[in-house]
Amino acid sequence: MTTIRLVQGDITRQSADAIVNAANSSLLGGGGVDGAIHRRGGPAILADCRRLRAARYGKGLPVGRAVATTAGDLDARWVIHTVGPVYQGPGSDPALLASCYRESLRVADELGARTVAFPAISTGVFRWPMADAARVAVETVRAAKTDVEVVTFVLFDEPAYGAFAARVGAEGS
Ligand code: ADP
Repeated sequence: MTTIRLVQGDITRQSADAIVNAANSSLLGGGGVDGAIHRRGGPAILADCRRLRAARYGKGLPVGRAVATTAGDLDARWVIHTVGPVYQGPGSDPALLASCYRESLRVADELGARTVAFPAISTGVFRWPMADAARVAVETVRAAKTDVEVVTFVLFDEPAYGAFAARVGAEGS
């Protein structure tokens, strides 16, 4: 069974087998978590991303999918890049957001990662409301069939931490 931990802070300061990046389809960098991971992880991550674009993902990584690269200078073995959906307003289908968590854990299992750190995918530039994103994240990780032993959600600020804590508490851990 997977243990869920919550941490408030910067995901690039975490130590884990795999750190998940809230990437965009281009895999060539962006703002938020993506920018921070490439800044602190160094150019090896971008070099791997460029190779992936050239080889398997000429049109970019589809929303809801995940792919791994080196973690460069981060305190991790891999970065797992996943592309969250852009929030389209009330009634937005959370299936692709759930898919990001599920696919990231599937890739983690392929790699043999036992500890994985996730940011709150889609809640920044992609505007998904934090409470709903926390619900989808926690429910999906709890329901996943995975060998990952510890999932750490790394929440950047107090409101994000509170939203995830409410969810984890609501369902018991
Ligand atoms: P998306 O494009 O999927 O919305 P963002 O990177 O813009 O991704 O934001 C996702 C979430 O990550 C937001 O809640 C944002 O506040 C948070 N965030 C931004 N930088 C960091 C960081 N260095 N560590 C952890 N969380 C971060």
